[in-house]
Amino acid sequence: MAFTPGLSAMEAALVDYTDSTDIKNKVQQEKEVSECLFDTAHVYTGFWSNTNLFPYTYPGKANIPDSVYFVMCDSETEFCVPRNGGINSLYGPRWGAMHKGLDIHLSKGDAVKAALPGKVRYAQFNTGGYGNLVVLRHPNGLETYYAHLTDIKVKVNQWVDAGKIIGTGGNTGVEWSGDHLHFEMRYRDHAFDPLLIIDWPKKQLKADTLVLYKKNMHEAVSSSAGSAALKKEMMEASGSNSGETASASSATISQSSQRYHVVQYGETLYSIARQYGKSSLELRTLNRIGTDCKITVGQRLKLC
Ligand SMILES: [Zn+2]
Repeated sequence: MAFTPGLSAMEAALVDYTDSTDIKNKVQQEKEVSECLFDTAHVYTGFWSNTNLFPYTYPGKANIPDSVYFVMCDSETEFCVPRNGGINSLYGPRWGAMHKGLDIHLSKGDAVKAALPGKVRYAQFNTGGYGNLVVLRHPNGLETYYAHLTDIKVKVNQWVDAGKIIGTGGNTGVEWSGDHLHFEMRYRDHAFDPLLIIDWPKKQLKADTLVLYKKNMHEAVSSSAGSAALKKEMMEASGSNSGETASASSATISQSSQRYHVVQYGETLYSIARQYGKSSLELRTLNRIGTDCKITVGQRLKLC
């Protein structure tokens, strides 16, 4: 290594590093090789769908281990808060339904960043209430969801590093609630509280590893959704339809010549009625829902 006069060995090394095209090329090559390896890793070949939001086919908690161990960060993996803002709403029960993520304050157009390095699994408008949504799957198997975006800046199957801008914030999907980022963390479609691992005031991870317990995970479709038969039908629908049949507001299923709709996150009786050209009153009457009763995520509504 050549030394530049007047610089210490360390400074010279840094100059060499930043100026050397060879080293830059080598770093790029190594990065591409590692990305290729990720492409063939099971985590990126199994249950990989760019159109089905919940591709793990509703396995139910029974198929989730009692605890799962994740390496969140190592010497080459960094973490970045998706948006440096206050939290408007926490993970947990809210308005009679389960709020499966954090609502982070932002203004329309603010940059939203990848929390961890990963591959873009889903990047499109979702009619189930998420609006413009990006889902990243990380090498450890966890997924992060970034919802209500104004613009999506990434494409499916693209690799992104932590801190990469994946979109801009807004309120698509839930216009009535103002601009915010709805951020979720999921394992095999099962949501859990991001604050289990993120120290929000410090904007960093609480630890380099995470042990996730089954009791902390919430199913993609609420257990109140009904019978195993219903889940089986949704599973079949998700397998046979390239759209979001089983995951979004288009979750309409046929059963014994009757048509049903399974209530999804972000939907209201009004928005569901509108989808099917009906009035809220018609749906209330059909389903015997009083005016003082609310619908819940996972609830099955008769449509006719
Ligand atoms: Zn939210």
